[in-house]
Amino acid sequence: MIQVTDIHKKFGKNTVLSGLDLSINGGGIFAVLGPNGSGKTTLIKSILGMVIANKGTIAIKGNSVKNKWRYRKEINYLPQIANFPGNLKVKELIRMIIDLRQKPNDSENLLDLFGLRPFLNKKLSTLSGGTKQKVNIVLALMFDSPLLILDEPTTGLDPAALIQLKKILGQEKKKGKTILVTSHILRFVEEVADEIIYLLEGKIYFKGTIQELREKTQQNDFEHAIATIAGHQPNNHA
Ligand code: ADP
Repeated sequence: MIQVTDIHKKFGKNTVLSGLDLSINGGGIFAVLGPNGSGKTTLIKSILGMVIANKGTIAIKGNSVKNKWRYRKEINYLPQIANFPGNLKVKELIRMIIDLRQKPNDSENLLDLFGLRPFLNKKLSTLSGGTKQKVNIVLALMFDSPLLILDEPTTGLDPAALIQLKKILGQEKKKGKTILVTSHILRFVEEVADEIIYLLEGKIYFKGTIQELREKTQQNDFEHAIATIAGHQPNNHA
């Protein structure tokens, strides 16, 4: 599904990705983890074509993404920070995105699952952070796409919404979808992820199952396993 080969990305003098290779073949939930500033968002944006790598190739379903944009129709993307026009009402924003994407959508069901009906006529600028994030999630998940890229979907969610999110991701996975997700909530990651992709110093430092991570770090507890891996970085900002 995703083939990233020898990607390099610098912002000025700051080298963020330096020869990163990543291969994701089948469906499943892949958690992209790493210390703050390790390049998780840069990697995700490179896959989406929103950041252009200095070197290397990215292919989705065998097709290079360079200078193409149509492949993005096959991706549902949840950005880390969604800047909505504050004057729009929730229902207007949802309508707008449905009109833009021109695909069948599951918004009605998702509005119920996340308890958003009472907010449909509210302006986006008046919503709490958590409610905005629920709207963000509805926008990202309402279309049927083979690849889902979710950058910090758990931010600000209350426990009920978190449970719904886990349920939906499980259902999407069962349909054979590929889901790339970042999250600071390690319990969430531990519950949903089939594989961990750990970024360090511009490369993939570890890719494997949670069990393999436990074995590699000799830590049974997932949080400790992640902390052990993070400890390998000289300048650990995590
Ligand atoms: P993460 O998602 O792992 O926290 P990011 O990919 O957001 O990391 O950022 C990695 C590094 O790249 C950081 O040092 C960040 O400041 C830098 N960076 C990201 N985007 C830009 C940009 N558009 N311009 C300059 N520097 C950037």
